[in-house]
Amino acid sequence: MSRRVWATVDLSALRENIGVAREAAPRSRVMAVVKSDAYGHGLVPAASELATGTDAFAVTSIEEAAVLRDAGFRQRIVLLQGPFVTGDLETAAVLRLEPVLHTEWQVEALSRAELSVPVTAWIKVDTGMHRLGFHPGAVPEVWRRLSGAPSVEAEIGFMTHLACADDRGDETTRRQLDLFDQACAGLPGPRSAANSAGVLGWPASHLDWVRPGIMLYGASPFVDGGGGHAPLSPAMTLEGRLIAINRYDAGDPVGYGASWRCPEPMPVGVVSVGYGDGYPRHAPSGTPVLVGGQRTGLVGRVSMDMVCVDCRGLDGVVVGAPATLWGAGLPAEEVAGAAGTISYELFCRTTPRARRRYVGAAQPEVT
Ligand SMILES: *Cc1c(COP(=O)(O)O)cnc(C)c1O
Repeated sequence: MSRRVWATVDLSALRENIGVAREAAPRSRVMAVVKSDAYGHGLVPAASELATGTDAFAVTSIEEAAVLRDAGFRQRIVLLQGPFVTGDLETAAVLRLEPVLHTEWQVEALSRAELSVPVTAWIKVDTGMHRLGFHPGAVPEVWRRLSGAPSVEAEIGFMTHLACADDRGDETTRRQLDLFDQACAGLPGPRSAANSAGVLGWPASHLDWVRPGIMLYGASPFVDGGGGHAPLSPAMTLEGRLIAINRYDAGDPVGYGASWRCPEPMPVGVVSVGYGDGYPRHAPSGTPVLVGGQRTGLVGRVSMDMVCVDCRGLDGVVVGAPATLWGAGLPAEEVAGAAGTISYELFCRTTPRARRRYVGAAQPEVT
């Protein structure tokens, strides 16, 4: 069947990018973050490629973790938001998942629980992100309540999340790391603070475990779009095809709301991808697109199944030509920047309609 839209995922890029993370933080263990369907890349295929380079996976929910266990993955799996209800603790124990505890009821429930197998727990410390976690001053008490509880493994980890590490000039990161250090001072157990930006930009954040996410998928975590010293390989390429080329006169409007008009007589192309596939509806005219490998820009509003593109000056481009919305040859960061969002959102919002096509697998089968 002919396809109007593809999201091609180059799995070899995932292997390269986790290698970049390991090289950047050589003394740390790596927890590969594969939440939200591996940032839209497909949980099981992505995890299969990352498995040999990773010491643990991190996910948000038991549902995501169960998919990994069902697929046969035996790595450690960390539940970044811990249990949502008390009953999740027994499920976590049976599946050998490691909950991150960020709030009082979770600590109370786990310290009293009688689980069939003890679980490894992590304590989330709020060092300034002010989203999840315990006040730094409360950490020794939380640790005391958990350590020695019958259903908690002896080694308890500590985790914090960096709010501003994507800006290499922001002093917040240094303050957060100092607070984290003080909060866990004297307590045994592994420490983890670094997201991708920490891995690539803040060596002091590496500690015992790093938690790379976006960099594994080949996009820069930094606000300025640079990958630091590390060249990352983009994994996902969103592609459609040119389904029409029409010529219009100067002043002719293009698309819904007639929001854009041709400045001169010109060819306008129609590409078979729209917001129904996850392309951002708010991408303005001028957002870069590759048509037949040549760079041009959107014109007019994004439709559900289509976008219009400026075909002036494109060489030898005919109906049927491939169009790249982001990925190989066109960094997702750049498209995201033009559309007022971040690459994370582009990847996660790519809908199942943009069928994932996998290339570059090391193993043909998921183990
Ligand atoms: C999503 C997430 C990460 C990964 O962040 P990136 O910016 O994608 O590297 C790390 N830690 C926690 C707690 C997260 O929720």
